[in-house]
Amino acid sequence: EDPNLAATLAANLEARRLKSKRVWVLVRARPVEGISCIAIDRNKVVVSNTNGAPTSFFFDQAFDATATQEQVCGYVSEQVLPHALNGEHICILAYGQTGSGKTYTMFGDSNPRDANAVQNQGVAFRAMSQLAEMLQSRAGDVPAPIVELSFLEVYNDNLYDLLDSSRQLPRLRSSEKHVVPQGLTRRRCELDQMEQQVHSWLREGAATRMVGKTVFNPRSSRSHAVVMLHICWSQEASYASRLRHLPNSSTRETRVYLVDLAGSERAGMHALAPEQLKEGEHINLSLSALGRVVGALASGKCEHVPYRDSALTWLLKDAITGSSARVCMVAAVHPAHPVETASTLRYARQYSALQSTTGSHASQLSSQVRDLQRKVDSLRHAFEKA
Ligand code: ADP
Ligand code: MG
Repeated sequence: EDPNLAATLAANLEARRLKSKRVWVLVRARPVEGISCIAIDRNKVVVSNTNGAPTSFFFDQAFDATATQEQVCGYVSEQVLPHALNGEHICILAYGQTGSGKTYTMFGDSNPRDANAVQNQGVAFRAMSQLAEMLQSRAGDVPAPIVELSFLEVYNDNLYDLLDSSRQLPRLRSSEKHVVPQGLTRRRCELDQMEQQVHSWLREGAATRMVGKTVFNPRSSRSHAVVMLHICWSQEASYASRLRHLPNSSTRETRVYLVDLAGSERAGMHALAPEQLKEGEHINLSLSALGRVVGALASGKCEHVPYRDSALTWLLKDAITGSSARVCMVAAVHPAHPVETASTLRYARQYSALQSTTGSHASQLSSQVRDLQRKVDSLRHAFEKA
């Protein structure tokens, strides 16, 4: 009978649903001149190919070409980033063909001399601003964490440190427990200056990034760029553990990964020179390994997950697996290219499948949520009739 009860229940349900959500898949279409092959309605994307019937895809949210950086980043900052301070790894990936807007979405226009720079800032800059604010607002409550930034590039399956004039890093060895490469630069920032410091390091790294040439986009990057923000919390010994003479303190590191993947178009199709053919092969290999890792997880075969198939999947291992990771994939599409668009959306759809099988806990929760939702609906119905 009580309308407030229904509203409270609904709000609780929503909060629970969001808490158990581990994977988000967003789509973003870039602006094009001429004919667009897609139609977007909230979370639905319909692709019309020249031959064959239109295909519909459903995601968490789809943004059409009119969406601003603020809108796209707003979704990420509301849904995904708040988890970063709960001891979980966060990974935001931009996937799509060259020229589809991956770099625009992740970095945007970062030229500080441009008057529109702030308005055009992409996910990386805005996420860092938000994290700086979140960390600062916590200062005082808990021992301040140590916050460090790394920025690296995976090119032809080799790793390069973008904060150290593109110095090559040693390969990740499978014997290592940790997935952070040895010798990787970690720039430590002061919490009260974090935003400015991290922004300038992001610009520095982006300038160091390797760029190549393809038919689609002469400035396209043929590498995966990975920003890693390390947040190290020292867990001071509790009174109880001090009494029991347990080790004084330990640290726990959570990371925020922001990944601008290399173009997903098939190698060979647009390659201009042998060098580019090789780049394309490595890109295909790492993206399909990423897909296989996700596919293995989606089918629940976690123990055979082929992380080591590529440097990229090994590097992202913590972020794309396990119970303390949250992944947000932004599938960028170029609406003038129906075949590549459909292929990007099919790839992105695999990530949605991850969701329902991430853990029995999650699926248990969601069935509880469904039951409760039905109760709320019937309460609301009864209330409206009364
Ligand atoms: P990618 O990194 O996927 O190869 P880019 O991000 O470099 O693609 O985008 C290709 C071009 O399209 C760039 O000139 C970029 O500024 C422009 N662009 C991409 N997405 C948008 C958008 N949503 N709004 C305006 N321009 C965009
Ligand atoms: Mg790019």
